[in-house]
Amino acid sequence: TLVLGIESSCDETAAALVTDGRVILAQAIASQEAEHAPYGGVVPEIAARAHAERLAPLIARVLDEAGVTLADCDAVAATAGPGLIGGVMVGLVSAKALAMASDRPLFAINHLEGHALSPRLADASLAYPYALLLVSGGHCQILRVEGVGKYRRLATTIDDALGEAFDKTAKILGLGYPGGPAVEKLALEGNPKAVPLPRPLKGRPEPHFSFAGLKSAVLRAKESGQYSDADLAASFQQAALDCILDRTRRALAEMGEVTALVVAGGVAANRTVRAGLEGLAAEFALPFTAPPLPLCTDNAAMIAWAGVERLAACFPADPLDFQARPRWPLDPDAEPARGAGV
Ligand code: ATP
Ligand code: MG
Ligand code: FE
Repeated sequence: TLVLGIESSCDETAAALVTDGRVILAQAIASQEAEHAPYGGVVPEIAARAHAERLAPLIARVLDEAGVTLADCDAVAATAGPGLIGGVMVGLVSAKALAMASDRPLFAINHLEGHALSPRLADASLAYPYALLLVSGGHCQILRVEGVGKYRRLATTIDDALGEAFDKTAKILGLGYPGGPAVEKLALEGNPKAVPLPRPLKGRPEPHFSFAGLKSAVLRAKESGQYSDADLAASFQQAALDCILDRTRRALAEMGEVTALVVAGGVAANRTVRAGLEGLAAEFALPFTAPPLPLCTDNAAMIAWAGVERLAACFPADPLDFQARPRWPLDPDAEPARGAGV
């Protein structure tokens, strides 16, 4: 089985070809960091235009690199949401055209499903059900991944996502956009205990997250002029990790049996976060899995892989009039966290 995957929900334009044998035959990512950097964040209109300009050549390139044609593909999978709607539409409309022209099934993939299943692309031994901490630029959730399309959400954030907290901290420290990797790097030179920062919701019975108060505390600490930027970065990262560990520990206790503790999404690339979660998994005598770094942040291989999983599980193709979705919860039955609009 061979699936062409397309990703365009935020600021990476990406295409990839992935087999059911977990081989990424070819992949290409065009990041728009340079375009958005002057604005300190992603500008939706600029993103949509950049996706439209770059996607077709990227798809041609991966087909060429892999030495295959569309006719060799068994399905076309594209992110259909959630995300910036202009960009999502560019990728989804392209996928529809390719699926129609080649008479192949279309899979309209939930971007979060791409993140959620990405660890299985890298690790053939990872079996359902597993406990997933999904930490990205727009989401912070704990899910029980029970199968393809079967996600039970136990926790979400009542305000900011974890990646968003990293990005806002980076902005406060003048590290620019995108901020996560820059905060991680600066934190290496700082003392994680130097700055007293809150651990929002720590100890609460429900395993939800909150990061807005932590970010505000970083801002106040920065404005006090008492601390170095490296100490601020290290202390922020430590406080965020403490929250994640406390909340995930709580969720694991009420999740039922799982095969592993897994982390995915852009923040899963953070080495301190990975190391902390590995320790937590050991507390529960669970194996720990995290995707290789390039599969953590947005990519098309994870979208193609979600298509491979859907084919393998005999999911029907999605209709060619499937509409792009700016919002699209992975678990529609999940109760929103109190105080959250999601
Ligand atoms: P979503 O998946 O929720 O729609 P997104 O696609 O924008 O959001 P991802 O690409 O999965 O998010 O992740 C990007 C986020 O990950 C950014 O907030 C970025 O700062 C953060 N991030 C990336 N690398 C690291 C790192 N090494 N340490 C901390 N955060 C990181
Ligand atoms: Mg990005
Ligand atoms: Fe993402």
